[in-house]
Amino acid sequence: MHVIIIGSGIAGVSFAEKYRSLSKESKITLITRENDGYYSRPLLSRGFSMNGIEQSIILKTFDKLRASDINIISGAVITAINRSDNTVSISGSSQENSMHYDKLILATGSSAFIPPPFRPYNELFFCLNSLVDLKALRKFRLGLLNQNRQPDWAIIGGGLIGCEVASDLAFSGDKVTLFHAMDRLMERQLVAEDSDLLLEVLQNSGVKVLLNQDVQGFAKQEDKVSVKAGVTAEFDALIVACGFKPRTELAELAGLEVGRGIKVNQFMQTSDEAIFALGDVAELPNGKLYAFILPIRNQALWLAGFIAGHEQQGWTPPVFTTRAKVHGFEAVHPYNI
Ligand SMILES: Cc1cc2nc3c(=O)[nH]c(=O)nc-3n(C[C@H](O)[C@H](O)[C@H](O)COP(=O)(O)OP(=O)(O)OC[C@H]3O[C@@H](n4cnc5c(N)ncnc54)[C@H](O)[C@@H]3O)c2cc1C
Repeated sequence: MHVIIIGSGIAGVSFAEKYRSLSKESKITLITRENDGYYSRPLLSRGFSMNGIEQSIILKTFDKLRASDINIISGAVITAINRSDNTVSISGSSQENSMHYDKLILATGSSAFIPPPFRPYNELFFCLNSLVDLKALRKFRLGLLNQNRQPDWAIIGGGLIGCEVASDLAFSGDKVTLFHAMDRLMERQLVAEDSDLLLEVLQNSGVKVLLNQDVQGFAKQEDKVSVKAGVTAEFDALIVACGFKPRTELAELAGLEVGRGIKVNQFMQTSDEAIFALGDVAELPNGKLYAFILPIRNQALWLAGFIAGHEQQGWTPPVFTTRAKVHGFEAVHPYNI
């Protein structure tokens, strides 16, 4: 049997390693657009304060995974799933441009969600969703530091990632203004009392927090960018952190059922029984996406057991919690996830 996995995040890699350990005879191919290896996405939000992050964030090199008899094709993009002959089309691989699968695992994760009004300005802002994004941000920041300038950032979005990034930049000595549309920070995950505490922690670390901001767009003026909102101000750079969007495009093009994510049943199976989805991209029958490390790893290990014939019952989510990686902040109440 040939199992093809698309994506080298925690979902794809956890599945591949576990399935390899359970099935010695299957051929396993993991195809990813990444070049840097398998890395920790949560650590991205500590990407400014940690020295040597570009190396320490790598959890496993692709060569190490290859040594476990997993065929890794890196720097390649799957452009189509052809369900009539069970093949995927590959672009950018020096090996093959089409490959046959018996089972296909979609672990394509999510990209940053960009609100429609911001899309015409996509040249004017950064996101922090991948190691490539972090490297671009670090390079830009280093350019300013090398001119003896204190970087001055605007972060758009006071959710989990926006607060984490604002905190890490301020912790690293930069000037930070955080624009948030709502009247309190992380209103989806935190009770009001903890939002107030988070606001105090961020303000004490030097972050200027602007609530109830209806950001309309951005403008470029020489080497500065301005934010069009209640308060118009200029910055060296902007980071948009307005949530995530599951990468459902391939599934949609292939005619699979898609909602917010790729729809799966309790067996992580899509509307095609040879194709499964895992991680940020998978939408369970209860309408939920489990976009956190702990349940994703649990899902991936479960699916490897299921395909190897060791699991009969469907996947049930484990009990889990999360915490914001904001320097000096601990919520008093449990997070709503
Ligand atoms: C800044 C940040 C901080 C976070 N902090 C936390 C935290 O503290 N705790 C927590 O639990 N979660 C956290 N998360 C969420 C967590 O990281 C994700 O839920 C998880 O990494 C998703 O894993 P995944 O394998 O589903 O997808 P991803 O990690 O997105 O991996 C998807 C992979 O698929 C590849 N790919 C996509 N399409 C194609 C294609 N067509 N062809 C080839 N390759 C393709 C991508 O390049 C990528 O390698 C954080 C996320 C971010 C961005």
